[in-house]
Amino acid sequence: MKKKIAVIGSGFSGLSAAAYAAKAGNEVHVFEKHDRPGGRARQFTTDNDYVFDMGPSWYWMPDIIENFFADFGYKSADFYELVSLNPQFEMIFSDTKIAVPKNYEELKQTVEQIETGAAVQLDRFMESAKFKYQVGMQEFVNKPCYNWLEFASPKIAVSALKLDLLTNFRKYVSKYFKNPKLRALMEFPVIFLGASPKNIPALYSLMNYGGYALGTRYPMGGFYSLVSAMKKVAENQGVHFHFNHSIEKIHVENNRAVSIEVNGKILEFDSIIASSDYHHTESLLDDQYKNYDENYWENRTFAPSSLIFYLGIKERIPNLTHHTLFFENDLDEHIDCIYEEKKWPEKPLFYACCPSKTDPSTAPENCENLFLLMPVATGINDDESIREHYLKELLNRIEKHTGAENLYDKIDYKKSYCVSDFIQDYNAYGGNAYGLANTLNQTAVLKPKIRNKKVHNLFYTGQLTVPGPGVPPAIISGKIVAKEVNKIKI
Ligand SMILES: Cc1cc2nc3c(=O)[nH]c(=O)nc-3n(C[C@H](O)[C@H](O)[C@H](O)COP(=O)(O)OP(=O)(O)OC[C@H]3O[C@@H](n4cnc5c(N)ncnc54)[C@H](O)[C@@H]3O)c2cc1C
Repeated sequence: MKKKIAVIGSGFSGLSAAAYAAKAGNEVHVFEKHDRPGGRARQFTTDNDYVFDMGPSWYWMPDIIENFFADFGYKSADFYELVSLNPQFEMIFSDTKIAVPKNYEELKQTVEQIETGAAVQLDRFMESAKFKYQVGMQEFVNKPCYNWLEFASPKIAVSALKLDLLTNFRKYVSKYFKNPKLRALMEFPVIFLGASPKNIPALYSLMNYGGYALGTRYPMGGFYSLVSAMKKVAENQGVHFHFNHSIEKIHVENNRAVSIEVNGKILEFDSIIASSDYHHTESLLDDQYKNYDENYWENRTFAPSSLIFYLGIKERIPNLTHHTLFFENDLDEHIDCIYEEKKWPEKPLFYACCPSKTDPSTAPENCENLFLLMPVATGINDDESIREHYLKELLNRIEKHTGAENLYDKIDYKKSYCVSDFIQDYNAYGGNAYGLANTLNQTAVLKPKIRNKKVHNLFYTGQLTVPGPGVPPAIISGKIVAKEVNKIKI
């Protein structure tokens, strides 16, 4: 039976949930607090013609994104051009750098030059990572994760040992590679999962396959091209979008969500899918209907927040690739500042994205679009003087690496973004950027549930629930939840 469904939020999970729910024949309305879709992946254009993606920049696991389009009879090429980056990225160390080529055979040669025998080890590592990726994508990520019985399949039973769920990622990598730089290279992808490689199950070497082996792509026009494409897909399914609509309350009667309150109006729905940050969504409910209390959230391990700079630079920067990881300092020291000491790092690591190297539409002629990201602890004080201090430090390091001079004086546009902005813009708990860390005890069934236990027609989707953070998982999350909503009777 056709339902009238409200989707709160229009990030990747909300867009995905809306499109699938509408495809199933429902009347779907998306309510977004901002004036445009995309959530953490919004984009803005400055008065002087720089175009900045605000969040994601690594287009990995392209098959998951193609699966979304294919479910609606499209392919990504119907909406945007995807460019394969070569090198995929560069990793800068204090005395050298590693460029990761797009061609896997060349990558093997690169690692072999760093450590004798590493090419063979890379093959072994990637073979296992591919296996995990395939099992993970087929057997793990599409589950609603109500309970462990969902995982009681013969294939999972047979593969259990090979999935390395109980080995930590760092230990696992060290079995294959001895050189510290190669280890850092292999550990880097799981940093996306928001925790130290010491605390991430080795299962997630599937990320190395989804990244290094499948390749790093860039959608021309920026990551926002994917947002626009998904919005178009949803609209073609009949989804109605309501921007500048911040939901203030979810009303419940007889354990059913009956309406939402927004801009002074009460609107009735049969079911609600909330893609807004989980803790915030629960704040829209009366206390007795919340799945989790404050104590629960205080005891979760959140992925870090980030200090981000969106910079227009009025000259071209030499010797800088599209993606560059500045790993001259010790990873563990930075990670300890995030999780143990909750303080600003003295010797930070950071990431620079320069999309104007690939896409001239992101910056005026002879200028550069520079996005800098440094992971920081959630809840930390992020006043202007601290932000400015790090801006100078990061630019100095880019100068040292590239040979560019006086970058600070060549800033043509500057915007910073940090903890307090995540809280204000996304109602993010502690100002988290990427939701919960994918530690073993926050994986699958142990993540916040996609369904409210007391309010039967209220569902949650997005990076704080299953399968987890990142663009491909958020898209999968929307698909899972749309299927679950369809199962309930109204
Ligand atoms: C800086 C940064 C870099 C990243 N880089 C990458 C990357 O390179 N590759 C990758 O795969 N992933 C990356 N990620 C992660 C990825 O962007 C996220 O996991 C994903 O976008 C989350 O989507 P979502 O739908 O769960 O949440 P969101 O995008 O946060 O969407 C939630 C939406 O709900 C809206 N909302 C909140 N409260 C209300 C309310 N009361 N009423 C109405 N609307 C509301 C918000 O405005 C928002 O639009 C990055 C994230 C960040 C922050």
